[in-house]
Amino acid sequence: MLRREFRLLSRVVAHDLSERGVDNALVHHRHRLGTLFRRFYHNVFHTFGKRTALKLVGVRKSADSEDEDLDQTPDLPDSVWRTAAEAYTDKWTARKVTDVDATTKKNIRAYVGSGLSEGKSYSQVADDIFDEVGDQARADLIARTEVHSASQAASLAVARGSGLDLDHQWLATEDARTREDHADADGQTVPLDEPFEVGGDQLAFPGDPNAPATQACNCRCVEVYVTKEPE
Ligand SMILES: [Zn+2]
Repeated sequence: MLRREFRLLSRVVAHDLSERGVDNALVHHRHRLGTLFRRFYHNVFHTFGKRTALKLVGVRKSADSEDEDLDQTPDLPDSVWRTAAEAYTDKWTARKVTDVDATTKKNIRAYVGSGLSEGKSYSQVADDIFDEVGDQARADLIARTEVHSASQAASLAVARGSGLDLDHQWLATEDARTREDHADADGQTVPLDEPFEVGGDQLAFPGDPNAPATQACNCRCVEVYVTKEPE
């Protein structure tokens, strides 16, 4: 869907390279991006919030004493992920749209400005914009990073809302592409309301959008929940 949006924008911009045309296209783009991100976050929270809720029901059952009727263990209510989804969406949509939009705008202006001053024809500049702004790799990177961040935020929110006495644990994907800091963080276990310490930065969860992009972009680490060791 981000791919489609970038392609649509590149077509519209390439169609009208005047300053007014570009500005207009960007206003509409921004608006569509906002709608897209909202829907996106909602869906991710739904999927991953539910998934974590189901896992935690298992954790809760195994924590209960044997003679209790396990089937009576209540599910976590949907309101937990819904509330968290709203908070996350309200907090991040505008900021993310601004980030994405700023880069796109910069790219377009650069291509229009330098292209035309280099004596390129309108259609060549239009082609450049189509290649750059319609770039699918960029759309995929943004989408991947956003799904990852929101999914981990959803998980943590549900874990916190479960009322269970849990720690969260950092789990790195161990392969050649894993950041050294993240491989080092593998297995780190802290209370739910405390952040992980990763390479000198504090991350509330893997992919924490408050963290520098160098720690969050393209990260594939996840967090899992473990019952606290008895002291
Ligand atoms: Zn990572």
